[in-house]
Amino acid sequence: MKRTIVEVLLALALIGAGVFGWMSWKTAQAAKGQVTELQAAAEEAAKAVTASKAAITAAEEQTAALEEQLGPLQNKVKELDAIKGAMSSGTTLADLEAAYKTQKTLSAERQVGLGALRMLTKGGDDPAALEAFRAALQLTDLGSRKNTMCAAQTALAAAGEKVTVMSECLPQAAQGAPDAQGKPDAQGKPDAHAKDDKAAKPDAQGKPDAHGKDDKHAKPGDKKGAAAHAAPHWSYAGEMGPDRWGKEFPTCAKGKTQSPLDIVGPFVKARTSLSAEYKEGPLKILNNGHTIQVNVPPGSKLRVDAKPYDLLQFHFHRPSEEKIEGKPMSMVAHFVHKGADGKLVVLGVLLKEGNENPGIKTLWANMPLEEGPEVAPDGVKFNPGSLLPREFDFFSYEGSLTTPPCTEGVTFFILKSTVNVAAAQVTQFPFKINARPVQARNGRDITMN
Ligand SMILES: [Zn+2]
Repeated sequence: MKRTIVEVLLALALIGAGVFGWMSWKTAQAAKGQVTELQAAAEEAAKAVTASKAAITAAEEQTAALEEQLGPLQNKVKELDAIKGAMSSGTTLADLEAAYKTQKTLSAERQVGLGALRMLTKGGDDPAALEAFRAALQLTDLGSRKNTMCAAQTALAAAGEKVTVMSECLPQAAQGAPDAQGKPDAQGKPDAHAKDDKAAKPDAQGKPDAHGKDDKHAKPGDKKGAAAHAAPHWSYAGEMGPDRWGKEFPTCAKGKTQSPLDIVGPFVKARTSLSAEYKEGPLKILNNGHTIQVNVPPGSKLRVDAKPYDLLQFHFHRPSEEKIEGKPMSMVAHFVHKGADGKLVVLGVLLKEGNENPGIKTLWANMPLEEGPEVAPDGVKFNPGSLLPREFDFFSYEGSLTTPPCTEGVTFFILKSTVNVAAAQVTQFPFKINARPVQARNGRDITMN
């Protein structure tokens, strides 16, 4: 079984590479500047591999084998066509679908991998493939996984879908931006980069701080994977601070229903009923460089007027992003849910300085202090419900993700009752400030029950 999964994942990574390379290669055939195009295709292929690789969290030893397979890809884009032929029987797709069948929700990386495989097996017009990329795109909104987002955006664009590909996702030839670290040289000499940073080329994107942070992603023996991770392209202060997010993520600046809000009356009477059914499960926690996030196994739900929304993850901001009549609380926990239709609902629980919070104590005892992949400490269970207050009265408004790309259409419920957090616990949280400032209300109603 393990071997099958390994083979499937390996095939997946190759296929991720294959499909992008193949598509770009076909385009390139028609164009005159074929050589340039092929190199761009290789870049895209490498990005796709990166995204697929992220799915292989459990199998560190596969990484080495994987990298060996990647080497030839870089220089022999044409071989990708052969891979396509080998996989077109549909067997691999069936295997993977069977392996994923037991999982209620798939990570963005897996969605991308699945989409790539479907596209390869069934062709670029397969609606299920496009759906997988779209799903990946929606999921990646929540995090900071640029490579996955790029892979999904690029795939949709290549399939002729209307999607805006972020400038960072374009092959660097198309960017023309001067590079803080020197030459934008991927076009020039593939050999100079030999293997290590072919995939990511973070420096091609003009991010001077790419390397320092990236390396924290590294697993031992996964040097290339480390280089392949995206640069942190936004932050809560300075050059990439909230007032600059709009440069790369237009919705952050142009959106009319952005979050968070300063919650002030007059309020409209809410007619919505709200209840949470959260369940205990194994703790999976990560430091994504912007916050501490807990990924929640399937089974926990929020009900909004009887409609269920699956709890995907929760995370923290310090101080609270939402203000109540101009005042922030020490922290806020955002519980992020998704409906069957893809609609996102965020439940905000404000943390007020007071007694120690036992739930937070468990989380802080297990949180990674440095940015990196999810960890699942042995035998530690957690019930997200332990962080909820007893009373469920709320304020509610239509808003957005409070982090880039600031996607709108997110419904917020901010509970009126707060829960305690000790001053020392606030201090232990590894982010001093990770709160977006409040946004313009633009005439939005805030309801209250
Ligand atoms: Zn949040």
